[in-house]
Amino acid sequence: MKPRVVVVGSYVQDLCWKCPAFPRTGETMVGVFASGPGGKGSNQAVAAGRLGVPTLFVGAVGNDAFAREARAFHRAEGIAARLAVKRRHSTATAGILVDAEGRNQIIISPAANLALARSDVPIAAVRGARVVVTQLESNLATTAWVLREARSAGVTTILNTAPLRADFRPAMLRHVDIVVPNEIEFAALVNRVPATGVRDFTEVRLASMSYTDLHALCRLLGVPAVILTLGDKGCFISTGDGFTHLPAHKVRAVDTTGAGDAFVGGLAAGLARGASITDAARTGNAVAALSVTRPGTASSMPTARALAAFLRKAR
Ligand code: ADP
Repeated sequence: MKPRVVVVGSYVQDLCWKCPAFPRTGETMVGVFASGPGGKGSNQAVAAGRLGVPTLFVGAVGNDAFAREARAFHRAEGIAARLAVKRRHSTATAGILVDAEGRNQIIISPAANLALARSDVPIAAVRGARVVVTQLESNLATTAWVLREARSAGVTTILNTAPLRADFRPAMLRHVDIVVPNEIEFAALVNRVPATGVRDFTEVRLASMSYTDLHALCRLLGVPAVILTLGDKGCFISTGDGFTHLPAHKVRAVDTTGAGDAFVGGLAAGLARGASITDAARTGNAVAALSVTRPGTASSMPTARALAAFLRKAR
């Protein structure tokens, strides 16, 4: 089936150790290990795919056991995946330590993701999609090229600015229809985009701003739509037509890891089905709320059925 959503981005194998406390320098500690599929691109593709929208994930892996796990995972999820094999790189990994209080320390090796090249991207699928989704965890030159190609073919382009890397170039925003930052990324974006005229913007200032001022600031980013995710405060949508705030659903959060990925996947699925930006953001808001009620990242993404049941109750 022709994919309606194409996600070009990262696959990362999450390697997680739960430990009583973080080991000190030179200390060896016993912990409980778990491993699973992750990476912002792959997670967002899972979120969109589980909602029943034909989705293609495009990424890069090494020639190792983690790559085999990635393939088996996407197959089991029913997501089409084009994983380029980079023989000189390993599959990306994230080493995550979680202490008894739930705090974490994370080291990421982006590895094969940074080697994703233009020739690895099935450009006809990108140009034929309804929605193309990207993040900043992959090769940035390839990501910028994908956005440009998609935009010139009339495809709706989404850039989730996670993580906002030092080598991010604001020129990339020229090819973006909808930019989705969280609060930290938004503050960094405002400081990095010359047209805002601001260099010392902080999350603290963001928190004290009126929606009218926030909307005016969003407009200076030069992207048609800005959707700022606000954690348990929901999201703020700014377009050329005005602004809206959607409060978060009241849920019992057990694990907020991957909430942003769930939001972006839900947003993309909504847009691919023809919803307006605000209605698609409503879907993202609900998908993300459901995802935080379950542990894990990719595994916490809800199905279309779970989402429908949740929305019936929320009414
Ligand atoms: P990120 O995970 O990228 O830091 P956020 O923390 O802003 O992103 O969360 C993304 C979205 O997840 C929010 O816009 C909201 O829809 C949802 N969300 C996050 N935390 C909660 C929560 N505690 N309760 C309900 N929804 C939440």
